[in-house]
This record gives sequence, C-alpha cells and structure tokens, in this order.
Amino acid sequence: MNLLHLFSRFRNLGGAGTSRFQRKRPVDWSQWRSLLVAGSSATTCLLLLRFLGLLQPVELKSLDWMQQLRLTEPVDSRIVLVGVTDADLNWLGTPVLTDATLAAVIEAIQEQSPRVIGLDFYRNLPVEPGRAQLDAVLETSANLVGIEKVVLEEGQSRQDGALPGHPLLVAGDQVGASDVIVDRDGRIRRGAIFPATTGPRVLEGLGARVALDYLADEEIYPELESEFLRIAGTTIAPLERYSGGYMRLDSGGYQVLFNPRRTAKPVELISIRDLLTGNVASDRMTDRIVMVGSTALSAADLFYTPHSNGYFRDSGITYGVELHGELASQLISQVLDGRPALRSLSEGWEMLIIAMSAFGGAAFQLWLGDKQRNFGVAAAFVGMPLVSYGAFVGMGLWLPIVPCLGTLGLASLLMTLNRSNQFKTLAERDALTRLANRRRFDEALQRSWMEGLRSSHALSLILCDVDYFKLYNDTYGHSLGDDCLMRVAQVIQQSTVLGSGLAARYGGEEFVVLMPKATPEEALAQANQIRERLMALQLPHEASEISDSVTLSLGVATLMPTMNLPMGALVEQADVALYAAKQGGRNQAQLYRPEMEQDDEILTQAA
Ligand code: GH3
Ligand code: MG
Ligand code: MG
Repeated sequence: MNLLHLFSRFRNLGGAGTSRFQRKRPVDWSQWRSLLVAGSSATTCLLLLRFLGLLQPVELKSLDWMQQLRLTEPVDSRIVLVGVTDADLNWLGTPVLTDATLAAVIEAIQEQSPRVIGLDFYRNLPVEPGRAQLDAVLETSANLVGIEKVVLEEGQSRQDGALPGHPLLVAGDQVGASDVIVDRDGRIRRGAIFPATTGPRVLEGLGARVALDYLADEEIYPELESEFLRIAGTTIAPLERYSGGYMRLDSGGYQVLFNPRRTAKPVELISIRDLLTGNVASDRMTDRIVMVGSTALSAADLFYTPHSNGYFRDSGITYGVELHGELASQLISQVLDGRPALRSLSEGWEMLIIAMSAFGGAAFQLWLGDKQRNFGVAAAFVGMPLVSYGAFVGMGLWLPIVPCLGTLGLASLLMTLNRSNQFKTLAERDALTRLANRRRFDEALQRSWMEGLRSSHALSLILCDVDYFKLYNDTYGHSLGDDCLMRVAQVIQQSTVLGSGLAARYGGEEFVVLMPKATPEEALAQANQIRERLMALQLPHEASEISDSVTLSLGVATLMPTMNLPMGALVEQADVALYAAKQGGRNQAQLYRPEMEQDDEILTQAA
C-alpha cells in the first residue's frame, strides 16, 4: 500500500533541473571570473619565474634557435679577415707569430691601401726576431688599431688583470679593447661597444673602434650631445639590466646584442700564407676593414656563439677576431644600410604581451567549442613562435616567446581544470535551487549507509514536501512557483549550515536532509526549525487551505543500518512519516513510528 502512494508521489517528479518550468538564467559571471583568475594567475606565475631568472636559459636558447634558423644574408664585403691558422704556423715553422712576420703581414696589407686595419694581437712584449721592424711598420700605420685588455676580474689589480697594448699604438691612441662578454652558458651573444672599465680610461671595443674609424673616413661621426650612441641618425641602443630574456644582466659598459648574419663566417677569410706568397687579388683589401688575428685552434682565442653546435647547423667555434669583425660589420650595416639591430621591447611591453597570451589562451578555452578549442590552442602554439620568428627576421625583434608560450599553456590548463570542475558541480547540483541533486543524494545515502553499517551509528532523514503546491502554481504561475521553490531550498540549506546534514532536492517540490549520526530528537528538532523558519518568511499562498503563507510538511525517520535492511527503508519510513504529517493537517513534522504503517493502511482502505 505504501508502495502505491510512493509510486504516485515519485511519478510526477520528473528529472529536477530538466523540468519545463526552468527559466532562462541571467549572464553567468563565473565564466568571466574564471577567465580573470586563469589569466592573471598564469601571468603572475610566469613573470615570477622569469624574474627569478629561471626562464633565462630557455629564453636564450630560443634566441639561439632563431639565430640558427635565420635567413642567410650576403657576406659583408666591407670587411676582410686575415687569419693565422695552425697550417700557417706550421708553414712558418714557429709556434707563435714573430714580430718580423707580423710586420711583413701588415706591410702586405698596407700595399693594398685598406681603410682600417684591426690588429687582434697583443704586442706589449716583443716576440723576436723583428721587433724593430714591427715598430717601424706601426710607426707609419696611422690606420691601424691594436688591442688592449681592459676589463679586470673582481679582485684583480691592474698589473695582474689588464694587458696593455703596444706602446707605440697606445701613444698614438690606436688601441681598442679586446674584451668579449661571455654569457653564463659560455656563449657569446653580446658585444661591447665600450667594455666596463674600472679605471678612468674609456676605450671602445676593437670592433666598435674600427667601425667608427671606417665611418669617420666617410665623414660620419657619432653625435656628441646624444644620451645614447647615435651615428647619422641611427641610435645604437645599449642593453639594459632587464633586456629580452636577460634578467639582472651585468650590463656594465655599453653593450649591444650580437646580430650575426646566418652565415657563421660573416667575413671573408684570407690565410697569411696566401697573403705572404702573393696569392691574394691586389684589390681584395682596398678601402676595406682588414681584421688580423689568430684563427688557430692552438691559440686560446676561441668562443662559442649561438651558431656553434647548433641543432640545425654546426658552424663550430668562433675566433675572437671574427667577433670583433662581426661587431664592426653589424654597426656599419646598421648605420649605412639600415640593417635592423637586434633588440627587445621594453619591460612594460613585454609584460603586456605575456599577459595577452595568458588571457588569449583563457579566452580560447572560454569561447571556442570543444573542437575549435583544441585547434585554437594548437594554432596559437604554432603561430606564436612563427610570429616571433617573423618579428626576429623582419624587424630584429626578440619577443618574449618562452614566457608567452608558458602563460598560454598554463592559462589553458587552468581553464580546462576549472571547466571540468564546473561540469562536476553541474552534475551534482540541481540547476534551479543549487542544492545537491538527487544523484548526489543517492550517493551520499549509500556512503552514509555503508559507514553506518561499519561503525554502527544511526542515520536520520528529513523528507519535506510543500503543502498545496499544485494550487500555488495554479494561482501564481510556474515562474513564481520556481521562485518559491528557491526560497524553500534556501531555508532548508540554511538549516544544514546551522545544524548538520546534506540538503538535496529530491525532486519536484520535495526536499531531503540526510543527517548521519543524528538522533531522532535532533532530526525532529531540525525539521521543526525548517518549518518555523519557512513560516517566518511569510511567503503568501492564498490558495492554501491551512495557512496564508507557504508551509511544509516533514517526515523524519532514524534507522540503524543493518545487513538485513535495504537502504531504501530509510526513505520509505520518512515517506510514511511525511504522509502522516499530511494526514495530520500539514504544516507539521512527524517522526516515524511503526504504528503509522497500520494507520496508513486503515486510512487507505477506508478511502
Ligand atoms: P500536497 O499538499 O498534498 O503536497 O499538495 P500538492 O499540490 O503540493 O501535491 P502534489 O505533489 O500533487 O503537487 C506537486 C506539484 O508541484 C505538481 C507540479 O506541478 C509542481 N511542481 C513540481 N516540480 C516543479 C517545479 O520545478 N517548478 C514548479 N513551479 N512546480 C513544480
Ligand atoms: Mg509532492
Ligand atoms: Mg506537495
């Protein structure tokens, strides 16, 4: 008999949340909130990692890759390199270049009337034989610039650290600094226009000096009033402490990023054997910069650059003299040909771009459909490096591609996690009242029942049903009926916040509160509290036959779970108690008593 009215009760419940009474929901701000949270968390996280310097190795690597993949540019014919190779030394029969040979080399070069000679050999001490001969040549070589090492390591005195230039050249102000700047990973990516010096002497780097001399010959001079180095309207901007992927860079002196042509050997190389045996065309060096230095593996003047041991091409090591020639070529091409310098954006712009990738990634997740979403993120992951490469090749811009990919990925991930969380919530919540739904209640009941079995504690349940709700709908319409259900749900939810238990929408206008470990008295008290709070709200219900306001009938049952009782018994008993409450005049809470089942039967039979 019970089962019959249970059946009739459940039949008209329908799936809560899918009911035809649902109204259109207002704009869901939680979407925007998740976008904001994902975007800003990803941005903060990556900016922090970057600031801590943890991204620097990867960012520098990304720069190296772009360098290796850049388009080939023609060799700069304004610069010629005369290198002393191991084969040359073998041919000469000496382990080092003597002053006599050096003098002969310079003489042979001078015969072709070069514009500037950059001599990348230290000659503060004589390498006999031939010192007098070398001095004589240097005396007449006003277009020649030698080297001096000026940068001191920490704690070094001038005597230990520095290497003075040839006295004649120093006296004639014909020296440039030989110092190169090595990154922490051993590679050269920066060149010094002026190295950082400790003393009062400011000396251009050898490459910068020969470039300035070359330009001066065309009456092009640096602008003296400018804050930065400006030549013929071109600003050679120095590196700052935070430049591109560099964090807290030791930016002493006046440094620029090396911007090598893809051809790893940017300048032509002539061996001194060819030079001294007359195997070089008579105008190869005419009106050019001739850089003279060691290109022998046995010398210590070797460096790794982004082009060395590349993933895409292996160009081996670079010699110091090549680096100076490279810098000279870079400066001259920038001034005369408008070849773009390699530079990065200001910190503010970089942060903006990094944040934009984060919010872009989050927005993809928010506004694209399932299929387009994956496509969108994949396209961004491919597209962003392409854009970055394009900016690098086309404009010489080093964009913060690594942190951008980082924020894009992280923001996408956060959004995906948030979405699956939302789905979970949707699957567990009733759409109208936001209470737990029937499914979640069933799971909770099962869990509590098992727990009760194991630890033998009682389980209480309150089943609530709105009185004369059909009439309410008929009087005020379904839309206001929905509003009423939301208010009732709020009252029930509050009771679990103040008391205990899990409140759920059982279906239609029926709600349950599951209260593990509660005694019958506690459950009944909570049921009455719910009833009274709803009464206190005074929601008008003029069609109700028992009150002016909306009321609830509640059935309360408490059971000790045992192996031979089905789990549904608790709901059944609460339902019997609810039925009794309805029969007893509604707007009341009844605690289940076994006699109710007989009363129920008698009543049903009477009917
Ligand atoms: P009783 O006091 O005996 O419970 O009378 P009642 O009218 O409340 O009884 P009954 O259970 O037959 O009616 C429940 C009504 O609740 C039927 C249905 O129209 C209405 N209802 C069920 N779900 C919803 C809903 O999601 N929104 C609205 N507005 N009404 C609903
Ligand atoms: Mg009902
Ligand atoms: Mg009802």
